[in-house]
Amino acid sequence: MFDWLIVGAGFAGSVLAERIASQRQESVLLIDRRNHIGGNAYDCYDEAGILVHRYGPHIFHTNARSIIDHLSQFTEWRPYEHRVLSSVDGKLLPIPINLDTINRLYGLELTPEQLEEFFASRRETVEEVRTAEDVVVSTVGRELYEKFFRGYTRKQWGVDPAQLSKSVTARVPTRTNRDDRYFGDTFQNMPAGGYTRMFQRMLDNPRIKIMLQTDYREIRDTIPFQRLIYTGPIDEYFDWSLGRLPYRSLRFEHVTLDCEQFQPVAVVNYPQTENYTRITEYKHLTGQQSPKTSLTYEYPTDIGDPYYPVPRAENEALYKRYEALAAACPDVWFVGRLATYRYYNMDQVVGQALATFARIQQSLPANGTV
Ligand code: FAD
Ligand code: UDP
Repeated sequence: MFDWLIVGAGFAGSVLAERIASQRQESVLLIDRRNHIGGNAYDCYDEAGILVHRYGPHIFHTNARSIIDHLSQFTEWRPYEHRVLSSVDGKLLPIPINLDTINRLYGLELTPEQLEEFFASRRETVEEVRTAEDVVVSTVGRELYEKFFRGYTRKQWGVDPAQLSKSVTARVPTRTNRDDRYFGDTFQNMPAGGYTRMFQRMLDNPRIKIMLQTDYREIRDTIPFQRLIYTGPIDEYFDWSLGRLPYRSLRFEHVTLDCEQFQPVAVVNYPQTENYTRITEYKHLTGQQSPKTSLTYEYPTDIGDPYYPVPRAENEALYKRYEALAAACPDVWFVGRLATYRYYNMDQVVGQALATFARIQQSLPANGTV
């Protein structure tokens, strides 16, 4: 009999497995239906010996000291500030849109103050900013929205930005200075040995047993456990009884080229052309040296593993109904991006897992003595 069954060995499941085993001294069976730990943050060496991210580029960034301190128990860090270029009108321009983006796009020499006026003259008045379109047109106007956001978003989500909540494009800021970093967080570093090594260290505890290639549905009636932490899709847990929650998927095309470098930065976005949204070149993220280089092309699709909850009001309403079912399940905790239907970054999932652990500590005496 395990004290806990944890479904999913991504950030949510692994952070909780470690906390429960080390702080409560309770036994954990951690399962995943994939053949590896790490969830979507999994990285591995490809045939050319280059460290790649199997599920697309994962860049760690946060403002939360407690989350850095927690993960620092399991990894050292390598400084890395993420920069992205966008292929627009035949040029590679910085995204988020900044002073250099506009000057290079239009052949101007605006100052930051003049750029503020430029945006002010183009932005549209939106009564209430509700959608992913509203966010952009009310900041930089329709032309820049069409060039940088509309096509990318339609590819990525399969719907028009007007159909998505504002939170989607609000992830990407607009700047009037020359800061070309993708993220503004105080802490921007990559795990020095990669994500998988960090997970291995996190899960290296004799109280944690790991079973891979194991689906919860296959073992739920045969393996005895007292309590459950579930980090898979919440609608699947309830056998889709209220209908399917949409999750957007991606098809990843991984390629290795016989050259040292393919593109000037780690990620180049393609908002206007191509069927893929972006190309990632991993050596920029890891600093690895090699005469070869490995890339990933991301092709968005509805079919395949669930990667992104789709932020729209109607989906949130359906999620709320599943959340009510979840609230009525004693001794089951739903955590993570898929189980709480939240477009969370890694640090937010770690924060959510640590908060869940604090709630477990408050509500349950340790060692299964309830
Ligand atoms: P997951 O990592 O999805 O883990 C859930 C695990 O549960 C999976 O391994 C799955 O196989 C398993 N599972 C599900 N159902 C079952 C079942 N029934 N039985 C057994 N196992 C099951 N975040 C950032 O901070 N920075 C980034 O740059 C970044 N880039 C991203 C790029 C892409 C393409 C994607 C898709 C996400 C990105 N993220 C990024 C988000 C990041 O991946 C997530 O925040 C984080 O990995 C979520 O962790 P999780 O544990 O909630 O879910
Ligand atoms: N986006 C866009 N153009 C870009 C970058 C982002 O339209 O060049 C929009 C798009 O809808 C995307 C969202 O902003 O899904 C969030 O971007 P982010 O880079 O955070 O996406 P993620 O890394 O989570 O896939």
